Amino acid sequence: MKVLVFIEQRENTLKKASLEALSVARNLAGSSANVAAVVIGGSIDSITAALKGHGADTVYSVSGAGFENYNVLNYAAAIDSAIKTFSPTVVLGMASPMGRDVFPRLAARHDAGIATDLIELKAEGETLVGLKPMYAGKAYAEVTFQNTKIQFATLRANVFKADATDGSAAVTKLDVTAADSKLKTVEIRKDKSAKVDLTEAGIIISGGRALGSADAFKILNEAADVLGATVGASRAAVDAGYASHEMQVGQTGKTVNPNLYIAAGISGSIQHMAGMRTSKVIVAINTDPEAPIFKIANYGIVGDLFQVIPILTQKLKELRG
Ligand SMILES: Cc1cc2nc3c(=O)[nH]c(=O)nc-3n(C[C@H](O)[C@H](O)[C@H](O)COP(=O)(O)OP(=O)(O)OC[C@H]3O[C@@H](n4cnc5c(N)ncnc54)[C@H](O)[C@@H]3O)c2cc1C
Repeated sequence: MKVLVFIEQRENTLKKASLEALSVARNLAGSSANVAAVVIGGSIDSITAALKGHGADTVYSVSGAGFENYNVLNYAAAIDSAIKTFSPTVVLGMASPMGRDVFPRLAARHDAGIATDLIELKAEGETLVGLKPMYAGKAYAEVTFQNTKIQFATLRANVFKADATDGSAAVTKLDVTAADSKLKTVEIRKDKSAKVDLTEAGIIISGGRALGSADAFKILNEAADVLGATVGASRAAVDAGYASHEMQVGQTGKTVNPNLYIAAGISGSIQHMAGMRTSKVIVAINTDPEAPIFKIANYGIVGDLFQVIPILTQKLKELRG
């Protein structure tokens, strides 16, 4: 298999989940020198250099005017250029907002099949077989490809292991001209918190409607500081203005897959669980023993979060010395 991986970056910092995709590519390609990565951005030399040790045999870079910020038309043209140069049989990316945007466009352009948001991926001969959560994570579908020259697939973050490997990839600059695009970036609104993005966080502590105010999220922030966690929220908390939209976990928020997810004062609606049920360990804190969140929790604490969380934070502080 010849596998091309689209590597994502933000502000010239590599997205960790892209390394997971690169490791999957390495496993699919075996020992042959058949893995390439494509990086697009403004100033990406440090990223292309970093990729050498992560399983890519070739790194294609596309930079310059029109590529500093994400623009689906220009990014599709850049990835397309790498496809034409490398002729892959498989193109992998992340099931991120960017991946969701640009991958279907590329697949359509190549009249090719696409499988999205996979949590398992293997090769049967030259054909990919993946596992995809469906119906808000209540069922899993095995998906495969037929009658397609290129197989496009996006992978869920934090599911696959990023194995660093030795290597010294050749870096090739691709000369791609940004189109006189119909799309223009007018404004970039940045997430103000310096915390790890929810989709990449190893530990998440989320608050729901029960928090009752934006101020009350302080107790989650304190716990998060001790735990090294990122703070998330239910939609009810976001809609009430207690938390910002980029903190929302769920069907219309972010899909997360941390090692530990703590849900505080969250009932466990289908829509919330759609975004977090594949977390490796789930802890629920809720006053209602019948709350649906307890059905998927590994550990449940029936109690008032305003009492439980400060005790938890204090105990963790003591444990950490
Ligand atoms: C199309 C659509 C998309 C949606 N997308 C999302 C989404 O992406 N994410 C999302 O989260 N929701 C989403 N929702 C909303 C979802 O249906 C729920 O309304 C929402 O998840 C409820 O949030 P909650 O659990 O914080 O609030 P509630 O359901 O009101 O639950 C609050 C919980 O807090 C408990 N509680 C109360 N006081 C305390 C206390 N002191 N200590 C501990 N526990 C306490 C209660 O027992 C209760 O279980 C969507 C809905 C629709 C229709």
